[in-house]
Amino acid sequence: MKILIIEDEPRVASFIKAGLEEEGYDTAVAYDGPSGEKAALEESADLVILDLILPGRNGIDVCRAVKEKKPGLPVLMLTALSTTVDKVKGFDAGADDYLVKPFDFPELLARIRVLLKRYNTASRQPDSLRVADLELDLLRKVAIRGGRVIELTAKEFALLEYFMRNSGRVLSRIDISEKVWDITYDTGTNIVEVYVNILRKKIDRDFEPKLIHTRIGLGYIFTDA
Ligand code: CA
Repeated sequence: MKILIIEDEPRVASFIKAGLEEEGYDTAVAYDGPSGEKAALEESADLVILDLILPGRNGIDVCRAVKEKKPGLPVLMLTALSTTVDKVKGFDAGADDYLVKPFDFPELLARIRVLLKRYNTASRQPDSLRVADLELDLLRKVAIRGGRVIELTAKEFALLEYFMRNSGRVLSRIDISEKVWDITYDTGTNIVEVYVNILRKKIDRDFEPKLIHTRIGLGYIFTDA
């Protein structure tokens, strides 16, 4: 976890930096508004600690700019001012939490943990799934294996996603037809077999190891083991 500290008072910045590093966080520090904003947008921070009064650009404006482009990046505002007006301004600009200086370090730490946890559980959806060297891009709806982009139809994609989310588990034809086709399995239809064969051609035929395995009498298992 990396935390970006945007704070112009070197003493405060190094106090926060040292405390966070002791707790195992990676840190980066910016000492003014413009460079802080740039770092928040360009570097891969997991959380930003943002002072309100900064040279170059104030914390409210930095916060607004950062939240506009990266709404999923939690921002904790720091300030020596404690009036309600400033708090409201901070929250209006999109700050997630607010801490008044001087503060106790454990208080800062507790709030950081809460924010990181909230963001991790709420907004961090993975945008791809991976089993062995096969990647399923959930945004572009394609599979990638051996550096090759493999186009999939909607049903092929749904079947592969179901396999990958349940890799290592035996899946019966009943499970698959209910979850992927939303129909009750009918022994008269071979739709599952047909689609499994199509997927095999696309993602397994030209590659090793094979990932889709038949378990006779049980169904299929998706695994590289
Ligand atoms: Ca300041």
